[in-house]
Amino acid sequence: MTDRFALVALPLPLANPYTYRIPESLGDRVHPGTRVVVPVRRRELVGIVVGTDADSPAAAARDLLAVPDTEPALSPNLLATAEWMAGYYGAPLGLTLKSILPGGMWGESQVIVTLRNGHREFGGLAGDVVAWLGRHGGEAPVRSAARALKRPLWEVLERLSRVEAVSLRVHPADTDAARLTERTLSLAEDRPTLLERDALFKRQPKQRQLYEALESLGGSAPVRHLSDQLGFSDGVLRALVKRGLARIGAVERVRDPFAGSPISSPPTELTAHQAAALGKIEKLAPGAGALLFGVTGSGKTLVYLEAVRRVLARGGGAIVLVPEIGLTPQTVSRFRGAFGDDIAVLHSGLSDGERADAWRLLRRGERRVAVGARSAVFAPVARLGLIVIDEEHESSYKNGETPRYHTREVAAVRARLEGARLVLGSATPALETLARTEQSLALLRLPERIGGRPLPPVEIVDLRTAPKVGGTGPIPWSVALDAAIVTALARREQALLLLNRRGYAAYLQCPDCGEVWQCPRCSISLTVHQHPAALRCHYCAHEEPLPFTCRVCANPVQQMRGVGTQQLERWLAERYPDARIARMDLDTTSTKWSHQRILAAVEHGEIDLLIGTQMIAKGLDFPNVTLVGVVDADTGLYLPDFRSAERTFQLLAQVAGRAGRGPKGGRVLVQTRHPGHHALARAAEHDADGFLAEERELRALPPYPPAVSLVNLICSGPGEREVTIRAAGLADWCTAVVAKHELPISVLGPAPCPLLRIKDRWRWHVLLKGPSTSLGRVVRYAARRLKREGQTRVVIDRDPVSLL
Ligand code: ADP
Ligand code: ZN
Repeated sequence: MTDRFALVALPLPLANPYTYRIPESLGDRVHPGTRVVVPVRRRELVGIVVGTDADSPAAAARDLLAVPDTEPALSPNLLATAEWMAGYYGAPLGLTLKSILPGGMWGESQVIVTLRNGHREFGGLAGDVVAWLGRHGGEAPVRSAARALKRPLWEVLERLSRVEAVSLRVHPADTDAARLTERTLSLAEDRPTLLERDALFKRQPKQRQLYEALESLGGSAPVRHLSDQLGFSDGVLRALVKRGLARIGAVERVRDPFAGSPISSPPTELTAHQAAALGKIEKLAPGAGALLFGVTGSGKTLVYLEAVRRVLARGGGAIVLVPEIGLTPQTVSRFRGAFGDDIAVLHSGLSDGERADAWRLLRRGERRVAVGARSAVFAPVARLGLIVIDEEHESSYKNGETPRYHTREVAAVRARLEGARLVLGSATPALETLARTEQSLALLRLPERIGGRPLPPVEIVDLRTAPKVGGTGPIPWSVALDAAIVTALARREQALLLLNRRGYAAYLQCPDCGEVWQCPRCSISLTVHQHPAALRCHYCAHEEPLPFTCRVCANPVQQMRGVGTQQLERWLAERYPDARIARMDLDTTSTKWSHQRILAAVEHGEIDLLIGTQMIAKGLDFPNVTLVGVVDADTGLYLPDFRSAERTFQLLAQVAGRAGRGPKGGRVLVQTRHPGHHALARAAEHDADGFLAEERELRALPPYPPAVSLVNLICSGPGEREVTIRAAGLADWCTAVVAKHELPISVLGPAPCPLLRIKDRWRWHVLLKGPSTSLGRVVRYAARRLKREGQTRVVIDRDPVSLL
């Protein structure tokens, strides 16, 4: 008999899978998708079989050692999805599988052997193993047993497992971290206002920093995080405790923050529009999809819930994707409420072990609904019948590293392979998605808010001419917004204030010579932060102290420009001293679940004014929010990216949709210096269709998606010269390929990326525009050809969401 060889992928940075010989004894159990134990140099790792009919390799191949599972870890459909991704995005299959299968399930994972039937008598090595296991509690990592018995054991274990004397299972490398407790520092209940703090911490700036760090972390944080990550000394921690401002406690490490969350029960009766949409979803052919285009507050979630319920009733399973799980606790709790223990919530707080457990339960059909962000599109749900993507326009659905997949595309492919239906929901769908409703995608509409509530009126406040509140300095504060807040506070209603710029100020500038402080590693200005005070780069985390004089002209006065959320918070505290204020941005949500603590406080009416970046615009449903103020609508309007108008429209429409969701109604004020821009004007009219139509015309010439497809080839490296040379060579190569195959593609560039440098790497790009199928050919050639040259590398970004 001739030898058979398997291709095995490993979660390592390898361009190609490795080839191994399949020993005859394992032949019947080696299939694509199976986990296998393989020797890699002097280690043993768990890999995934991606092919079983590989050619005999030139050099002698080593043998596969063992097949620990009884069935493949990856279903044929998931493996086919991975293969599609690798091909479409031009990514190595190993890296693609790494984004699909949780890291804890292969690679460094260990194989555990468990004694199942200790009464049987075996001779020789088998007997020794059984006896050894018996003496060691009946279970041990294979590695320990082999070391103790000083023999390779795979072969004998394989035989023992076939007669069911032992069983093998793959166990994540991290084991029982689950029950760890840790020391925490929590703020006392009575909290001084921002103004009282000036007196309280007059001579103790460090204590104030710690106090405010704790506050921004939701009132409590692990001591280890405070000392190791944030650098606070023991003395400062103890001082706060001694002054009664904080106390030390111990908590169990948070595992599932959703476990104890209140479960909301869904309304039972669908509106006529909801029922019609559901009916059409039910009628979709297997593998087909629909866009659920419904205004904010139109009850899209209930349509998803009912669609899932129908699938479960037919014995199927479903995947529900949300943009960011920390930001959508309400959606998650609605699904929990409806399906209880049938749900597996996949979130970043899971340990490898818990994630592996969730996978196993989903595979076996013991949990039938997976809820999670982007990567949950790969959840191994059994008999997958439905994939829902909520807020499908969100850019977080695009993966930021290789493979640079878009969840929407992957979901469509997976749905086709599995015969599942796909539902994309949004009040502000992506232009590409809407364009597809002219072809394959069905279009379903929910034109009204639940209960016939009107969408809140939106007033545009022209900052160039509107009367401002006196003494505001750089804060753009109109009399109109001020009056609206005063009214809301007086009525004990809540307000959301959107300012999509974190930090204290966008940048620091010398008023004399115009010098702007830039990051030494990135071509971007440094953001001013307070508490702790520093200039910080939002791309590479570079940090330096605030300067007192200009480094160019030594002028002592430095001006902060572009108000950020920290500055706004401070100003609001002075302006509305009785209001309870919270801030939600990346700086206040750096620990796990801090989002949720802040949102819960809003939900319980403990917050009057919530300031935040785009984080506060998503999916929240708080009926007592009657006012939404957009402090500066122009922050993202003129970025050099073809999506900046679309993003601005989506952000405004979404945040406006947070107002007036209850019986008290609501209103929205948008402050801007560009009131005529179509993104603002259409958002003010709640006219998504109008915006999409206008924007689509603008994308026809010069053409951008959906008029054409894009591939962005980004060349980056530490040497400016090498990068420009490589980019020029890349453009030449593309031009030659396009000419040779007569492809209808235009090659633009090489050109410097708008962000010319990030983290000490220079960046140039070549942009390809054309029909998707032709671009696919170039991607295929490029993936084969483009290798790293020294430190310079080329990244293929197919269907980029941003060109920055
Ligand atoms: P969307 O996601 O479209 O913005 P939601 O799904 O959050 O809207 O629904 C808005 C509100 O309307 C929620 O509080 C929800 O519980 C309520 N709701 C949805 N459908 C119904 C219904 N059929 N009857 C009564 N209330 C409903
Ligand atoms: Zn930087």
